[in-house]
Amino acid sequence: MSNDPLIRLEGAARTYPGPVPVHALRPTDLAVEAGDYLAIMGPSGSGKSTFLHVVGCLDRPTSGRYAFAGNDVAAMDDAALAALRGRTIGFVFQRFHLLRDEPAWRNVALPLLYQGVGRAERARRADEALDRVGLLARRDHDPGRLSGGEQQRVALARALVKQPRLLLCDEPTGNLDSASGARVLELIREQHALGTTVLLITHDARVAEQARHQLFLADGVLGAAQPA
Ligand code: ADP
Ligand code: MG
Repeated sequence: MSNDPLIRLEGAARTYPGPVPVHALRPTDLAVEAGDYLAIMGPSGSGKSTFLHVVGCLDRPTSGRYAFAGNDVAAMDDAALAALRGRTIGFVFQRFHLLRDEPAWRNVALPLLYQGVGRAERARRADEALDRVGLLARRDHDPGRLSGGEQQRVALARALVKQPRLLLCDEPTGNLDSASGARVLELIREQHALGTTVLLITHDARVAEQARHQLFLADGVLGAAQPA
């Protein structure tokens, strides 16, 4: 339904099982409207990545409910969830996660391969996404020969090539110098201005300021205010 929030968590929690279970995300209520730009801050170990994995449908809550774009993730099998994620959610991680020995364009085109898009169309859309991040001239380069900032822009192009409804960024500037980080944040802002919902995780307050709203995680508890 178009008037559903894009993201709706109702008491959603994630516990990692083990001899000593880790309550990485405590029961959480959250609604994020389509078109929003939200930053989640919190120290290392506070549950930021766990939260992002749940919101990004890489993982399911162990209790409570999560609906993404009106889809109850608990009701979907792994294949259906992967297909939904593949079509609608773009990810950018701190460590880029690009394939070496594959040219930049092929890295960017990979999500389209999983969607069954033909080679010529994949190449065309990859070039378009690389152009968007200012790296069309590097399309045939191995990521290993690119700077960190360029690698993250390739990773961003890979996230954007599917025209995602949701862009999830986990410490996207954590491995970058400040100039490269600023360029990546500018590109994320541009994508938000085009209508993509953005959720960005960071422990850097200056990065979080880019977003419309900021929330804080501490020991798995999501709240509106920075913990004292
Ligand atoms: P952050 O991204 O804020 O650093 P994480 O979400 O990665 O935090 O981790 C939150 C807590 O959950 C930490 O205590 C971490 O050790 C624990 N944790 C994360 N992943 C796992 C896992 N796969 N199994 C068990 N514990 C985990
Ligand atoms: Mg993390």
